[in-house]
Amino acid sequence: MTLDLSIIVPMYNEEEAVAPLVRRVQDVLTKTTLTWELVCVDDGSRDATAANLRKLQKDYPALKPVFLRRNYGQTAAMQAGFDHAQGAVLVTMDGDLQNDPQDIPRLLEKMQETEADVVSGWRKDRKDNTLIRTIPSKLANRLISRVTGVRLHDYGCSLKAYKREVVEDIRIYGELHRFIPAVVSQYGAHVEEMVVTHHPRQFGKSKYGLDKTFRVILDLILVKFFLSYINRPMHAFGMTGLMCLVPGGLLATYLAVLKMVGGEDIGGRPLLMLAVMLILIGVQLIGMGVLGELLMRVYHEPLGRKQYTLRHKAKN
Ligand code: UDP
Ligand code: MG
Repeated sequence: MTLDLSIIVPMYNEEEAVAPLVRRVQDVLTKTTLTWELVCVDDGSRDATAANLRKLQKDYPALKPVFLRRNYGQTAAMQAGFDHAQGAVLVTMDGDLQNDPQDIPRLLEKMQETEADVVSGWRKDRKDNTLIRTIPSKLANRLISRVTGVRLHDYGCSLKAYKREVVEDIRIYGELHRFIPAVVSQYGAHVEEMVVTHHPRQFGKSKYGLDKTFRVILDLILVKFFLSYINRPMHAFGMTGLMCLVPGGLLATYLAVLKMVGGEDIGGRPLLMLAVMLILIGVQLIGMGVLGELLMRVYHEPLGRKQYTLRHKAKN
């Protein structure tokens, strides 16, 4: 490993924040003895973010920008940052100065003290719109903690520190970056939480609104599936399938006996409808389980494809 620390910052249309962010990170980290780099990932911004990053590169040798060809979203930008980072510890942060660079050394101290693999920031005093962001996010955090079993107050906080090893083996897609602590803890990583400072957004505007909470809930279902059933989809689908197929089969047998032995007319019985539905659903679910098993084998033999393409590699 060549460096102690990489700071990874996804940026989408943050032209005004770029320069102050780079300066503040530099101010904080020159006071430490760490060797570090700042990996700013321009997520296909339509404003001057990329140009500003290029300009700053001359004055700040620690700045290593990565330019994505188009806007891929915060998670893909973060993954691009992970792929390009050289540090032994990787710290992710928002590019809008809502997180405070002062907290970076504190995260590292906490990591050493507690021998944690991940230290996750907690915006205890969050400075975002209460009604559409803070309250829904509190509920979502409770739900995520319950479902994943990893208790954090603030999954959504971008300011987190990871030991390199823990993120090296995982790939994050969609908007799943917030679930990294839950996923890596499943692999045995030690996750800690630390209160961090949060500032209101000074420049530009937030890229998310209330709909984000609903997307997070869908993501949670996905993550739960991945955590519990990725290696045995047949059990997830097949079990429900059997629970339909068995009662369906019994009902159908019962009706067949009535018809053949008792000579009863079963054509108009609602029970017949139920039996047919249960059998159909059961067969389909088991079929999905088989498909899932097939897909899982493909999933575990990755083709090494990336989810993004680079505009061009960062110089140096
Ligand atoms: N971001 C990004 N790509 C996107 C959307 C957002 O890289 O498509 C970055 C954005 O520039 C910021 C971070 O992700 O650095 C968090 O976004 P934002 O501040 O809008 O979210 P909020 O803090 O309101 O949750
Ligand atoms: Mg923000």
